[in-house]
Amino acid sequence: MNVLIINSGSSSIKFQIIEMPSETWVCSGLVERIGQQDAVLNYKTSATSLQQTESIKTHKQGLHKIVELLLHSEKGVIKSTDDIKVVGHRVVHGGNSFSNTTAITTQVKQKIKEYATLAPLHNPGNLEGILVAEEVFPSAKQVAVFDTAFHQTIPEKAKRYAIPNQLYDEQSIQLYGFHGTSHQYVSEKAIAHLGLKNSKIISIHLGNGCSMTAILNGQSTDHSLGFTPSNGLIMGTRSGDIDHGIIYHLVNTLNYTVDEVKEILTYKSGMLGLTGYNDLRDIEAEAEKGNRDCQLALQMNAYRIQKYIGAYAATLNGLDAIIFTAGIGENSSLIRKLVCRNMDYLGIELDDEKNETKSKSLREINTPVSKVKILVIPTNEELEIAKQVFQLVK
Ligand code: AMP
Repeated sequence: MNVLIINSGSSSIKFQIIEMPSETWVCSGLVERIGQQDAVLNYKTSATSLQQTESIKTHKQGLHKIVELLLHSEKGVIKSTDDIKVVGHRVVHGGNSFSNTTAITTQVKQKIKEYATLAPLHNPGNLEGILVAEEVFPSAKQVAVFDTAFHQTIPEKAKRYAIPNQLYDEQSIQLYGFHGTSHQYVSEKAIAHLGLKNSKIISIHLGNGCSMTAILNGQSTDHSLGFTPSNGLIMGTRSGDIDHGIIYHLVNTLNYTVDEVKEILTYKSGMLGLTGYNDLRDIEAEAEKGNRDCQLALQMNAYRIQKYIGAYAATLNGLDAIIFTAGIGENSSLIRKLVCRNMDYLGIELDDEKNETKSKSLREINTPVSKVKILVIPTNEELEIAKQVFQLVK
């Protein structure tokens, strides 16, 4: 069965076809800069690799371009849109309504729309992708996989904020968690690799967005992002943890509007706010040249991760493994080195040579005496979505 996975963002559509249950990759691609004259379409199969720049105004136009390629007589991989039996959609925020992968109905779409207030950067694009896919693949089943679902096991003592009960009871203000498909995928891989019946793992997802999850016996028990994807670690453009008193000071004393504060904390903070760059490759290169802001930002970034490792190891009452994943976690040996430095008290000891080796598969980068395994595991959110979707429809 061909499963088409769509990860539709505010200005991009990432797609992949995976043949299930063999988990065979068929094709993948990405349309970026939707809404602009110079949108970029990347497409790859085992026989073809292409990139074209053209005007793509809407998600609908973007998905039609993708379908044109999928059906193309030479470069294509399907004969008709009916060959796609099921479309799996990544949806960032499912609130408290969805703890599992769910077939999409009118009510489900309504809920995704409602939760856009909680994930304004993500849910509107996710919903747009669903609406367009329903039109383009009318005979396919449409299924939603929620980033928040994996975190539904977080107990109340960890997911509640110490604010008046009424805000939880009536307004559902609580920690929801994000990057769930990624944390679930890499932690399942780690558990299989470790071969442990009972396991205490910390998963560290470091990409454009960054988050950490404490995972006890395969279940999420705490997580660094919260009510919205803004808490916790220092991210590309998001601040992560700050004292909320800063917000009142900005508004009441320095006369920023609430929207301006949101703009600052969401798009102008994090590594970008500290250095002027948001891509870690640029920051590492600048730090190497002696740029003090970049050097400090790297130290701050790693220090924040260390604090969360300490906190989660305490709540798990021990630690078997930490996992590095996503763009930065998989590729930046420098961040891994800074994070693992001075963590021998917790039994985390990095092997510098193994840390520098490059590989696209799961690898251990700890020394032989390290009590805690340090794992680098490439995430594959699309495959996790395909697996969950296939389980639901098979
Ligand atoms: P993701 O959101 O998982 O696609 O991660 C994207 C981020 O990963 C980029 O913004 C970069 O900061 C970072 N990244 C990707 N490749 C490297 C690399 N080789 N070294 C350091 N950072 C990287």
